[in-house]
Amino acid sequence: MNTSNRKYLVIGAHPDDPDEIFGGCAVKLSKLGHQVTFVSATNGDAGHFNMQPAALAKRRVAEAQASAKIGGLAEYQVLENHDGQLLPSLENRAQIVRVIREIAPDLVISHRPCDYHADHRATAQLVQDAAFLIRVPLYCPAIPIPAAWPVFCSGWDGFRQPAAFRPDVCVAIDDVIQTKLAMLDCHVSQFYEWLPWLDGDQDFERSHRTQADRLAYLEERWLELNRRQADQYRSQLRQQQGETADAIRYVESFELSEYGRQITVQEFAALLRNPGSIKSSGSGTAVQQ
Ligand SMILES: [Zn+2]
Repeated sequence: MNTSNRKYLVIGAHPDDPDEIFGGCAVKLSKLGHQVTFVSATNGDAGHFNMQPAALAKRRVAEAQASAKIGGLAEYQVLENHDGQLLPSLENRAQIVRVIREIAPDLVISHRPCDYHADHRATAQLVQDAAFLIRVPLYCPAIPIPAAWPVFCSGWDGFRQPAAFRPDVCVAIDDVIQTKLAMLDCHVSQFYEWLPWLDGDQDFERSHRTQADRLAYLEERWLELNRRQADQYRSQLRQQQGETADAIRYVESFELSEYGRQITVQEFAALLRNPGSIKSSGSGTAVQQ
């Protein structure tokens, strides 16, 4: 395998989830010449308080494309599944298997199956189900099986039942935080309309008239999640990066999956931080029945 060109596939439930989970890493890896693809498993057409679903879906595709351009992504696919209605159905399972096989990534990043949002849980389930089926020749036989079995992992969340997120690898994103902020800023319908409304702020537009006001809000409200990871996982950061860890303010963290190709935490860290250093992807050891 050509180690200079790794492929990363982020499958989130809604257009903006991949940006939150992997935006900083995406920018860093794209800058190094690697291929990063974002996929939203739904079109996000329920994420607003007064827009009509069809118009919202169209707007969210445009927001995703703007973010992709800023992040240097290879592609930002928005699948035509309705928001709030995603199921781990047989049809959707085949769709996710097709997406993964066609991109043939080294690493797939998604949600964990414990999450407040039904679409996030369904997306996680679909990705978990696909982790094995992408290798089965008689399943969706028209789409070729990738040469290498991908590694699977989950991005950070704060849920604790049935198990808290395990930060196997923490990636400092301080050097690209302004670009991540600019990517989030593209999702106007979400970060400046729907999410403030959900937070109970129905006067957001009037109180955030300028672009500077909006960016300050994004930094305070949404990059707080990355600051929280840096603070919460400081001891892991020190183990992984030594004393330089104390200065890190923004982190994206990832939990290695027991499904898909199995690699060590060290190999996982290299795949996320310094993919050019990995000599061979190999087939790894498989945990299978
Ligand atoms: Zn979401």
